[in-house]
Amino acid sequence: MRAAIFLEQDSDLVVEDVTAADPGPRDVVVQITASGVCHSDLSVINGTLPMPPPAILGHEGTGIVESVGSEVSRVKKGDRVIGSFIPACGVCWFCRNHQSNLCEQTYAVMGSPRATRSDGTPLMAMTGLGTFADVMTCNEISLVKVETDLPDEQLALIGCGVTTGVGAALNTAQVVPGSTVAVIGCGGVGQAVIQGARIAGAARIIAIDPVELKRTTALQFGATDTIDPSDGGALAQVQALTGGRGADYAFEVIGNPKTVQQAFDMTRSGGACIVVGVPRFDQTIELPSMSLVLQEKRVLGTVYGSAQVNRDFPRLIGLVEQGRLDLGDMVTRRMHLDDINDAFKAMQAGEVIRSVIN
Ligand SMILES: [Zn+2]
Ligand SMILES: [Zn+2]
Repeated sequence: MRAAIFLEQDSDLVVEDVTAADPGPRDVVVQITASGVCHSDLSVINGTLPMPPPAILGHEGTGIVESVGSEVSRVKKGDRVIGSFIPACGVCWFCRNHQSNLCEQTYAVMGSPRATRSDGTPLMAMTGLGTFADVMTCNEISLVKVETDLPDEQLALIGCGVTTGVGAALNTAQVVPGSTVAVIGCGGVGQAVIQGARIAGAARIIAIDPVELKRTTALQFGATDTIDPSDGGALAQVQALTGGRGADYAFEVIGNPKTVQQAFDMTRSGGACIVVGVPRFDQTIELPSMSLVLQEKRVLGTVYGSAQVNRDFPRLIGLVEQGRLDLGDMVTRRMHLDDINDAFKAMQAGEVIRSVIN
């Protein structure tokens, strides 16, 4: 099999032939048909998300089941599946309490080497998936079977960015009709937050991003107003658009403590500040303690959009099929696995909403 390998921090991925490890009894071999390139892959490469190399990156993908282990019961050969970057084992405390996005098997599925390099070095797979490859072997709890005719490149996005963003609006924040939403950071996940807020019936959706392409795209996906924060006046502009109160919901979709503070400041009294972006593991977020209490602002962390993947992947597919969630226009570039490093360059240059490897 061919795979894109993370060998060293701050270096390009290396695409090479590797030997897949033998699947275990609960493992599934999936032929990857499309994989989105997510900012979290870049976060592994630059050390924001700690993961020791060498490893196959990629955690947002879809494909067809090629073979299953002897104890696999959830999927069978030929099924169409989307990888879930957090597994849903179905039996742990969190899975049984409608919080499968916090499944206790999250780290266990990352613990098996999934391939070896030609020199015999074992390779782990990001989040137990490793979608930057033509084939991946993963535990069946990391897969959700789907039945749809949607194109692969759209299904791939449901594996991470779309579920994270739409879920943050619908599940975590539970945006209500008529409300006002501000979104700081309008990459793939931010655009999905905007679409989620639109689906929820938000009256005003303010998209904040310094990149013009992202502001223009935001308007297409449902934003009603855009702000270029480059001049430092974003907070004042949000206040001006919200009668001086601030937004009912302010989403931070970058993962920077400074913009989390900004999102908190943009949140009205009694509103919710939702932190979607993942800050560096060694960073701390400082918030004004008095307004946290006396203005009763809620700060909500969210992982995987608080999604219950076995429930939410089919729901999201339904929204796409009905034309209420636009994933087609979120794919702004398609490329081959060999060109994967170009996807990261385009991401850093702000040239794309989402690149898909297919
Ligand atoms: Zn991701
Ligand atoms: Zn579980």
